[in-house]
Amino acid sequence: MADYARIKQELDGIAVEDNPALVKQKSRDFYWYSPILKEELDNVVGDLVVSPTTEEEVIRTLKVAYAHGVPVTPRGGGTGNYGQAMPLSGGIILNLINMNKVKEILPGRVICEPGIIISELDRQTKEHSGQELRFHPSTKQTASVAGFIAGGSGGVGSITWGGLRDLGNILRLRVVTMEAEPRVLELSAWDLQKVSHAYGTNGIITEVEMPLAPAYDWVDVIVGYDEFMDAVKFADALSHKNGILLKEVAPIAAPIPFDYFTRHKPWLKEGQAVVVLMVAPHSMEPFLALAERMKGDVRFRSDTVESMKGIPHAYELTWNHTTLRALKLDTNITYLQVQYPGPDHVEKVRIMTELFPDEVIGHLEFIKFDGQIQCAGLPLVRYTTKERLEEIIRIHEENGCPIFNPHRYTLEEGGMKQTDQVQLDFKKETDPKGLLNPGKMIAWENPDFDFSAGKNYLFPGLEVFA
Ligand code: FAD
Repeated sequence: MADYARIKQELDGIAVEDNPALVKQKSRDFYWYSPILKEELDNVVGDLVVSPTTEEEVIRTLKVAYAHGVPVTPRGGGTGNYGQAMPLSGGIILNLINMNKVKEILPGRVICEPGIIISELDRQTKEHSGQELRFHPSTKQTASVAGFIAGGSGGVGSITWGGLRDLGNILRLRVVTMEAEPRVLELSAWDLQKVSHAYGTNGIITEVEMPLAPAYDWVDVIVGYDEFMDAVKFADALSHKNGILLKEVAPIAAPIPFDYFTRHKPWLKEGQAVVVLMVAPHSMEPFLALAERMKGDVRFRSDTVESMKGIPHAYELTWNHTTLRALKLDTNITYLQVQYPGPDHVEKVRIMTELFPDEVIGHLEFIKFDGQIQCAGLPLVRYTTKERLEEIIRIHEENGCPIFNPHRYTLEEGGMKQTDQVQLDFKKETDPKGLLNPGKMIAWENPDFDFSAGKNYLFPGLEVFA
């Protein structure tokens, strides 16, 4: 057991919290989204929350943690939904939310600290020069920019700009290493893949440089269709219209909209599927012309409602907010993350929709993937058993629709089910004792793990919380 009284002394001058209730609160994220992770991680708790306000304080904290052999799990807003920010071996929770300054706003880019909340970052860049981040997670109001980079993948705006892993969608990161004498590294271009979506397992991000796009007063629109597949075809056709500027395109099957989008209910029709959209104001006319031609039933427009008071942003109906709204009203719901590789993505969606009537309820996000329009899915699943969930996953994969399993806390199982050599090599260089966010990178914890054996990885360190 580490000597936390001593560690606290050595961190004198840096904000440290060991009140058990507060430490427990900061040891949690949205892991409870998954009934499986809820069971596995419910008892996980750290020992100390350290909240640095400068890079120098981050360096001091890592130096002390290294000397004592104490694990460090970075944390931003704590909105990750796979237990990414949960300290599976206890230790220090490095709360970066107070490092929240914008350092410089330039044409097309912004330089800021890691913990700034994304909506605040967008507010400042918009006010400064009419710019905003190219895309953001639907948790924009609560998530930090570095948490998005380390834990997220894409989101609202990905229909135009793609995802975080696309070259150019992050410009530069400063990263502090976990060594006896922590180093500060500057990463750009291909090197960004070392830490982007690495769950903070191989460095602490202390500065971020992100590209910006022109900001618009995006119009929230909801278009209804009696059949889900008609909604999907409209979303696909619209997403292919190069001239119409969009920020969000999400077809969602019945009964999700009417049952779970409670604040929008007055505008929705029971039994209808919808497409939730964000459209640039100057694209509204051509957008409406296409909707009319494709017999869409435009049910809601934020630019024509009397007041938006009490009505959530359209993006808070999409991505994992769709799941959140369902979970609030029905705890038997869970979800999956599905890829429908193109160019026949619409046909793949049709096949999978017909295979699981009423059990898997469609929710798609249209995105630009390597320059091509495709769709990813976050369908809701009426949860019965772990075994049935595994079966649904298997059937998707047998039909050419890979699943990024949101019921696993490791990078590999939630991703491509293979070692990311670039991230592993970087970890060897930056975290030789394996103290950063332990348990999340299988390639580090158990290099011989066989992903093809069909078994789930269980981090041995979790036993202390059993
Ligand atoms: P946290 O949850 O605090 O951390 C995420 C990961 O990053 C953790 O592994 C943590 O250790 C690491 N980390 C945090 N800060 C640092 C740092 N400075 N240096 C190194 N590592 C760090 N994700 C999407 O990609 N797109 C979406 O649209 C989306 N929608 C969501 C909707 C809901 C309702 C929920 C619950 C989740 C959603 N997510 C989405 C997941 C998550 O909200 C986002 O990825 C979010 O950006 C995470 O930011 P955060 O500050 O909350 O990070």
